[in-house]
Amino acid sequence: MDANATTPVLPQVLEAMRPFWSEEFGNASSIHQPGQRARAAVDRARESVAALLNCRAAEIVFTSGGTESDNMALFGVLAPGDHLVTTSIEHHAVLHAAQELESRGIELTFLPCTPQGLIEVSALEAALRPNTKLVSVMLANNETGVIQSIRELADRTHAAGALFHTDAVQAAGKLPLDVKALGCDLLSISGHKMYAPQGTGALFVRRNVRLRSMFFGGLHERGRRPGTENVPGIVGLGKAAEMARAWLVEGDAQKLTALRDRLEQGILAAADEAGVNGGGVARVANTSNLYFDYVEAEALVIALDLKGLAVSGGSACQSGATEPSHVLTAMGLSEARARASVRFSMSRLTTEDEVDAVVAMIPVAVARLRELSPKRQPLAVSS
Ligand code: PLP
Repeated sequence: MDANATTPVLPQVLEAMRPFWSEEFGNASSIHQPGQRARAAVDRARESVAALLNCRAAEIVFTSGGTESDNMALFGVLAPGDHLVTTSIEHHAVLHAAQELESRGIELTFLPCTPQGLIEVSALEAALRPNTKLVSVMLANNETGVIQSIRELADRTHAAGALFHTDAVQAAGKLPLDVKALGCDLLSISGHKMYAPQGTGALFVRRNVRLRSMFFGGLHERGRRPGTENVPGIVGLGKAAEMARAWLVEGDAQKLTALRDRLEQGILAAADEAGVNGGGVARVANTSNLYFDYVEAEALVIALDLKGLAVSGGSACQSGATEPSHVLTAMGLSEARARASVRFSMSRLTTEDEVDAVVAMIPVAVARLRELSPKRQPLAVSS
């Protein structure tokens, strides 16, 4: 139940990668035959990722993951004096990159969100300035799964003469993605959120978008990302992209929505003073962010871990941090409710039996923790 943190490498993906560590270990830049076979494998993978996003292969830059793709998009486009608009609910890969850019002379605006976690076009319109160079709004939120109206936001951005980037790390492989329909100029994905290995990813860069390289070296990735390609990783990402396309076409995403509803309805029927964060708006099918008032999410995460269930309080990158989730507080949740919120994120491999086991487990664990909660008693008496 923590697939938004990472997913397993699927057996077919591992199988596709396997030869490229040993028998087919060529450097994709070498002109001899082993090198050319590695190059051909990278090219095939590029075609597969491009097919997932409905773009040209030449518009895909392979990276080391979502963080690098996000950084590449922001640092590659912005220069001192430019204005960046992003949101208060982004992943730290965008948030912290934006803050770093601000310290380097880039003007920065964070858009607020509605209580459901949506970014409104009117908020974007109010933020745009003559020197706005880039707008970056994530497609699906990693904590709540809430999906943004990317097309509308991108259209408004283009009307103001700026470029549009979306962090689609939590959307890739969960929703059909089409960069033309979305209207974005830059789009980030990460391998390990879509059943490829950790440390792989890609950035879609629309043709004619000029991107400065963050690294300097050889001419790999058309000079946009120098460094010997991670051939096995890229092959794995390509295979995972192919499998994601097939999965989306077969309508398995709908089955995941049914499982998500079963999970939420089951838990909420048995646990009182609980609810869905980001409920009532479009969300990716696999993600449920639930609050259980008077329960410390951290304590619940540990209690469930002891029972063999992996969930997350806030985002994985934050766990261990004492601050409540910036996403939930941006949605207007009180600090107490944000600290009482837990993320359940299913994978393509999650079964109905597993969901039922979780539904049976949560209300018991919640009730036990509430018995221990000093805050619970006075409120229970007064209500
Ligand atoms: N963006 C979002 C929305 C994410 O959820 C994550 C990872 O959790 C990232 C970016 C970073 O991706 P990576 O772990 O591949 O660097």
